[in-house]
Amino acid sequence: MNKNIERFIRYAKIDTQADDTTGTTPSTEKQKNLGRLLVKELLELGLEDAYMDEYGIVYAHSDGEGDVIGLNAHMDTALEVTDTGVNPQIVNNWDGNDIKLNDKYKITLEQFPKMKAFIGKDLVVTDGNTLLGADDKAGIAIIMAVLDYLKEHPDFKHHPLAIAFTVDEEIGEGPKHFSLEKMKADYAFTIDGGDINCIDCENFNAQGLKVKITGVAVHPGEGKNTLINALQLQAEFISMLPQEETPFYADEGYWHLNNISGSSEEVEFSAILRNFSREKLEALDMRIYEIRDALQSKYPKAKIEIEIFEQYENMKAYVDKDPRPVKKAEAALKAMGIEPVFDRIKGGTDGATFSKMGLVTPNLGTGSGNHHGRFEYLCIQDFEKMINIVLKIIER
Ligand SMILES: [Zn+2]
Repeated sequence: MNKNIERFIRYAKIDTQADDTTGTTPSTEKQKNLGRLLVKELLELGLEDAYMDEYGIVYAHSDGEGDVIGLNAHMDTALEVTDTGVNPQIVNNWDGNDIKLNDKYKITLEQFPKMKAFIGKDLVVTDGNTLLGADDKAGIAIIMAVLDYLKEHPDFKHHPLAIAFTVDEEIGEGPKHFSLEKMKADYAFTIDGGDINCIDCENFNAQGLKVKITGVAVHPGEGKNTLINALQLQAEFISMLPQEETPFYADEGYWHLNNISGSSEEVEFSAILRNFSREKLEALDMRIYEIRDALQSKYPKAKIEIEIFEQYENMKAYVDKDPRPVKKAEAALKAMGIEPVFDRIKGGTDGATFSKMGLVTPNLGTGSGNHHGRFEYLCIQDFEKMINIVLKIIER
């Protein structure tokens, strides 16, 4: 096993799962265990200013010439499957047959047809009991391998680098305490994607919706002309939303109901609203307000309260204004003989928020996939190639 993969496995074995219920930063103290290790390794690699701040974010800088290029990856792992006891398995020269993770779980081409691309390659997979955490420890390991290369090749001419390893990306709080002053980069990349040919520079505009409906509760026997059932009003509200704009049908954007709680007296429900187009998202907002007004005048004794709040923004407008990072990534991929694919992420990235803060940050791949679950994998050849792509990006 080479030292780059060894490094990835070392990070993957450290439990860094985030938790969206603690309300602290980082959301779990254990993320700092990886942070401390990374600071130690960064110092050993000669990045003398490496440190972890009070929020658990690790920053480090290396000198060079030209624009300061930021490289970011996140230390936490997703909430869906545990990160405790990660025990990576290596499949050499995969023949395409089922990969038995344990007695209960296996990776099959039938379930994951996209993995056909990895026949003949080497994979790192889980033992079926945890996720792998290649999202995003593969990104961290790629950045550390690049820094290792720079140390071993002092004659390699490169841009100055600003490194940030962030916490709590998986609960949408990566940018919360991220500091442009501490980062000091001209533009940056998150290395937090799947396939290595992708350059992600477009993502959803995202809002959250909360609705609270208060009905009029009396004994149903006395309900004539009085009782207003909040549960039924809620159903009526949902039925008036555009039914073809749900994830099942929609490509461009959607609303997605994700929680309902309450009783006939009072109901609260929430939804996420997503669209690549700001105008279309705002048109949906207008529709929601119209529904509220229509129902409010139909049931004047009920109370319908609506809150729509911003979550993140499509980075495309920012990337278009400063095309330097995308141009660099595109040239590096082409130099490596890889045709870049410009993907639109049906989700968000920390880079979208960094871009809005003023640091344009498209996203690059890591060679991993099936994220957030026990079928997660890392293709060793693609991971190695990505190290070379990042070296090309930063080369002078
Ligand atoms: Zn990630």
